[in-house]
Amino acid sequence: MNKVIKGIKLRLYPNQSQREQLWQMFGNDRFVWNQMLGMAKERYQNNPNSLFVNEYGMNYLLKQLKCEYAFLRESDSTSFLVVNHNLAQAFKMLFRHRGGYPHFKNRHSLRQSYTGRSTCKVLARRRMQLPKLGGIRTSRTGLVGDAKIKRYTVSYEPTGRYYLSLQVETEVNQLPETHQSVGLDMGLADLVISSDGVKYGTFNAEWLEKQAVRWQRKYARRRYLAQCQVWKWNHNRFDHLEELDGYSNWQRARVNKARCQKRIANKRRDYLHKLTTDLIRNYDVIVIEDLKTKNLQKNHHMARSIWHQFRAMLEYKCAWYGRQLVVVKPDYTSQTCSNCGFSSGKKPLEVREWTCPKCGIHHDRDVNAAVNILHKGLKAIGQGLALVK
Ligand SMILES: [Zn+2]
Repeated sequence: MNKVIKGIKLRLYPNQSQREQLWQMFGNDRFVWNQMLGMAKERYQNNPNSLFVNEYGMNYLLKQLKCEYAFLRESDSTSFLVVNHNLAQAFKMLFRHRGGYPHFKNRHSLRQSYTGRSTCKVLARRRMQLPKLGGIRTSRTGLVGDAKIKRYTVSYEPTGRYYLSLQVETEVNQLPETHQSVGLDMGLADLVISSDGVKYGTFNAEWLEKQAVRWQRKYARRRYLAQCQVWKWNHNRFDHLEELDGYSNWQRARVNKARCQKRIANKRRDYLHKLTTDLIRNYDVIVIEDLKTKNLQKNHHMARSIWHQFRAMLEYKCAWYGRQLVVVKPDYTSQTCSNCGFSSGKKPLEVREWTCPKCGIHHDRDVNAAVNILHKGLKAIGQGLALVK
């Protein structure tokens, strides 16, 4: 048994009044953030030598803020603690020169959310109890089970949908040992090639990608047209400035664009989940290469981000289920013969197959690289000798 922190994402179906409440709560979090940030800025301007107000100091200020602005009482008060924590973190990063100055937030942001630490529980099938909101309709509550909920985030996404993300503490069982190891290479045509010679192709989202590009184009054009309208209007009238938000045409395109992109991302995530779960079930030791040093230009940007997601999934699943993940440097893995160790020099990418001039074995480029990666990894953890026949 292994205690782990897991993320669960459910769809939320708030009714009209709950939707209004949610937008008030999104706004309240933004309000607290902006107030605290404004306070910090002003304090610095008045006296650059004054001490920065830390998280506890900001939490103390919350009381006065709540007295002054009654609408803040409509929020789950733990969400303000999270806001203060995040702002304090942002300042910490700034002081360590690892991040820029925190920004004020405005209501035009495409993604809205708030995070709270209060308890929320499953009321019934597809129904959950959330602080201040009461019972709210959700998707599959069965996923939560008897897990302990640590924190929750309600979000409104550019797709126009509401979601509830839960961070839960749960237990997972370790998988039985299989005494098998595998090396994985990243391919061009295939996503992953295993040292056993299995090629896992990339998922096919061509149609969706085309749709996404189409809507992106429509979105850009409609937004430009709306912008022109706004400029025209605002040139003649200065008393009442019109806003871009009023144009529903481009906003509809924005939602459609977001939905296409989301569907592609979902498809990709599902595919990677299936693939990584498969690998975790079948192998005790999984060796992959460190992509940081590999010639990155040759790989499409998309492929790179897929690989990162794939690696992140492998990392946490290995930790959960008691498997070993070994990361090796990818130097020379595609040039060396996996049978006799003869290095035949750098080969252009077009060369998919080659024959070793020393031992005469015919290699598939990617499978050979995967075998080399496996050997390297086993050597690194001290199991290399057992494998050499
Ligand atoms: Zn050879």
